[in-house]
Amino acid sequence: MSADKTTTGLTVEKGHVCHAELNAVLNKNSTDVKDCTVYVALFPCNECAKVLIQSRIKEVVYYSDKYHHKVEFVASRRMLDMAGIKHRQYRPKQSQIVIDFTLIDKMNNGIDTSIEEPKVVQDGQVTSEVDAK
Ligand SMILES: [Zn+2]
Repeated sequence: MSADKTTTGLTVEKGHVCHAELNAVLNKNSTDVKDCTVYVALFPCNECAKVLIQSRIKEVVYYSDKYHHKVEFVASRRMLDMAGIKHRQYRPKQSQIVIDFTLIDKMNNGIDTSIEEPKVVQDGQVTSEVDAK
């Protein structure tokens, strides 16, 4: 859904979007998520923190905390701390992963047998080669 404005000023984004944390807990592929670790792109908001606490998540690993000073996220951090839920920022060793689909097509079709091995690219520079077997 797009974030269209209605005549009441309510945006679709504000009223209808389910945050990733709630979606993950509701659509888990297990009986419960007790003692599990959740990996999220953004530090959870206060509403998601409540869901994570109630679902007995053990740890939150997030990539970005760009809303660190907003009240919702200060409250979230406080609630997670009070509930004893660990939270830490994920620091990837590599800044990007490149998937070359043309290489995959060539390998599947068996057209080119002299294909270069896949490589790990970091900041536009090849850092290592990957064993594709
Ligand atoms: Zn949220």
